[in-house]
Amino acid sequence: MARGFQGAMLKALGAGDHVLEVLSVEDLTRHYRRIVFSAPTLFDRPFETAGYLRLWVPDAAKPGRHHQRGYTIVAPDEAAGTITLEFAMHASGPAVTWAASVEPGERITASRYGSTKFAVGDPVPDGYVLIGDTAAIPALNSVLAVLPDDVPVEVLLERSHDDDVDIPMTPHPGMRVTWVPQTGDPAALADALGERDWSNWYAWVTAESAATRRVRGRLKEFGFPRSEIHAQAYWMRGRAMGTKHDAETPAVPSPRTEAIPAETPKPREGWRSRAGSTLLAPLKGRLILAGAVQAVVSLLQLAPFVVLVELCRRVLSGDADERALRGLGLLALVLFLSGTVLALLLITAMHVLDARFGHEVRTAIVAKLPRLPLGWFTERSSGRVKQAVADDAANLHYLVTHAVLDVVAAVVTPLAVLGYLFAVEPLLATVLLIPLAVFGILTARMVSASSAAIPAAVEWTARAGSEAIAYLDGLPVVRAYDLGPGGRLRATLEKHAAFLEGWQRPLLGRRTATDLVTRPSTSLLVIAAAGTGLVIAGVMSPVDLLPFLLLGVTFSTQLLAIGYGLGSLREAVAAARRIGLVLTEPELAAEDTPGVLPAVGGGRSVRFASVSFAYKPGHPVVSDVDIELRPGTVTALVGPSGAGKSTLAALLARFHDVTAGAITIDGTDLRALSTEELYATVGFVFQQVSVLDASVRDNIALARPGATDAEIEAAARAALIHERVERLPDGYDTVLGRAARLSGGEEQRLQIARAILADPKVLVLDEATAFADPESEFQVQRALSRLIAGRTVLVIAHRLHTVTDADAIAVLDGGRLVQYGTHPELVARPGLYRELWTAAGATREQEAHA
Ligand code: ADP
Repeated sequence: MARGFQGAMLKALGAGDHVLEVLSVEDLTRHYRRIVFSAPTLFDRPFETAGYLRLWVPDAAKPGRHHQRGYTIVAPDEAAGTITLEFAMHASGPAVTWAASVEPGERITASRYGSTKFAVGDPVPDGYVLIGDTAAIPALNSVLAVLPDDVPVEVLLERSHDDDVDIPMTPHPGMRVTWVPQTGDPAALADALGERDWSNWYAWVTAESAATRRVRGRLKEFGFPRSEIHAQAYWMRGRAMGTKHDAETPAVPSPRTEAIPAETPKPREGWRSRAGSTLLAPLKGRLILAGAVQAVVSLLQLAPFVVLVELCRRVLSGDADERALRGLGLLALVLFLSGTVLALLLITAMHVLDARFGHEVRTAIVAKLPRLPLGWFTERSSGRVKQAVADDAANLHYLVTHAVLDVVAAVVTPLAVLGYLFAVEPLLATVLLIPLAVFGILTARMVSASSAAIPAAVEWTARAGSEAIAYLDGLPVVRAYDLGPGGRLRATLEKHAAFLEGWQRPLLGRRTATDLVTRPSTSLLVIAAAGTGLVIAGVMSPVDLLPFLLLGVTFSTQLLAIGYGLGSLREAVAAARRIGLVLTEPELAAEDTPGVLPAVGGGRSVRFASVSFAYKPGHPVVSDVDIELRPGTVTALVGPSGAGKSTLAALLARFHDVTAGAITIDGTDLRALSTEELYATVGFVFQQVSVLDASVRDNIALARPGATDAEIEAAARAALIHERVERLPDGYDTVLGRAARLSGGEEQRLQIARAILADPKVLVLDEATAFADPESEFQVQRALSRLIAGRTVLVIAHRLHTVTDADAIAVLDGGRLVQYGTHPELVARPGLYRELWTAAGATREQEAHA
């Protein structure tokens, strides 16, 4: 079948053919047709989100001719071996003509090559704006299906027929669709973007070619970085040959009325993904200069070889002017030395630059951390801090010191060699490019065959890792119940190995071939064979072979270094971005003149006044909560899991700042207090105990480093941990983590001792949920009741029977305060508390029976 140049290229690059058979045809609207195909061979590799097929559609006018059209794969069903394609039927192109008259049972050929991929960003953007026309809906639908529920999504679509609005779209809770009538004006979509702050949004644009260009221009005006735009023209107005889909004719010549509603203008925030370039901005000028100097260095390092070749050429051709020869030799030496010296100076300068910059960056990170809200330090972000400070800072060293120089050298040297060789003998220089072309094609085929399996490979690795951890965690149980040696883990590992083998084995041949064509020995063979031929044919003189043998042999290897250089560069830029992200995290607002709490003898009173809080804008987790904690009383927070108890408690410890309302201590807003004053007043004991790699003494005296030994021991006694400490090898000097380990309950009591010593007037407690043994639980409870005495306490209660004595109980549901009172009051009334109490009672009885 005739597919022209495009078809031949695709074939060369490894695009295999698949035969699709039409199973059913259904019109979703008058102009939108869904066709289900049987395509069992397509499932040889996983489908990407928004990935597409290249259909080879017959030309109705010219039998035997085929046109390539891209169509997004919808609803692939591996078990049934079927896929669905959806056709926007507005046009008269070959694909639409074919789809308009197709019957079940007919067949069509397709290739899977160079598909689009969509992946949710990390960090997740503040929103997604998806732009296109009806032809883009299948792709938009698959993007919508994978977007997280809590991001806002603006969908901007051009409609050519009134019933286009009936085309089914994947539902998304945060989605708003704006339809713009198609008038044939390519600026319609761009204009409909309106005026607003799009900072940190991601844009996916798939529309007509001119419209796509306009939208992209508009997005750039909004400040979208290139990395946050996916723009792909799906078709071209007035041309039968689009890359995807067919040309459409405008059908609704009505005035433009709709646009994404404008927002009240506010200052632009800028994009987080720019964080890396912002971080590196001060270095940009110097890095460019360094690149220029490196180009000179590369040329200087190459020059002596050129001079030596010239020298040999003269010697061989009998030009024996000794002075001239000596002059050339000297020149080569001078060039060599100056190249070496300049290279040395350059690398030294870069190291100095890097040392200063690295120091600045680390200082900035260290200065940043205390200003971040405590709630930011979740496990995930702590990992990020570690990565930013340790690994990424090291990556930055490569970026600043070596990356630019490596890439420039990798590009300049082979290009200069190639230029020189072309000047010597163009024909042989061209032959030298053949192995490179073979390498290019082989690599492209390999990438096409293997890249789709990469996400699966990553998933397999992660799965094997987590199952290994689960296996180790559950080892005692596995042993006790004799579940066999590793049971599930072993099966997973075996499947993983089979996957890797199935993935890599077919590539082995090609990998060897790519390796072969880039070897110096291959180049040598090519040069020798072609060169000898050319010499015999009288095209070139034997002397001219010399520069090829000297410089052409390692040419391919040098060129490959570009790939490695760029890879490391990309990694280093990603590292810079991660560091930049940490540095641009929003900080806790700090007052210039912090407020001071009045000195009081007794407890302090805490007020939550109309407090609301959302981790993400528009998704409140705590709404309008009013609670007063009277001095010296215990208030328990109860409610179903996810009600917002932990979040509300964390707000009092200023892990986050309230989104609306205020929390006050004796009338002073938390946000007005200095960090020191705040944490001297508010203490917290959470389930997750952090025990430092330090002595018991230092661990207890964490909040009061100046405490005397007597004070520390008194706190330990009160927390019922003193005797256990005495039994440690070095008593209070025992280094925890290394010399000794404490049990979970003992760690809790250590934490309680820490809080008793710190002596905060206000205490936030997260009641522990599970204990290994009743004795340990009893000890912790006793220690806790000593800690609580006389303080204003907010306790997150997970088990109701522990809060019956609380002075007040606040019942939360869905982030709202639904009930408030004492235990006897609350059980007496119908409501959530009584329901929870009854349910808990049933559980208690069951436990008692068991
Ligand atoms: P509770 O302690 O009552 O079980 P939480 O305060 O832990 O409730 O959670 C309330 C809601 O807030 C839940 O929907 C939870 O998924 C969400 N949430 C908790 N912590 C975070 C966080 N760090 N980021 C985003 N959402 C969170």
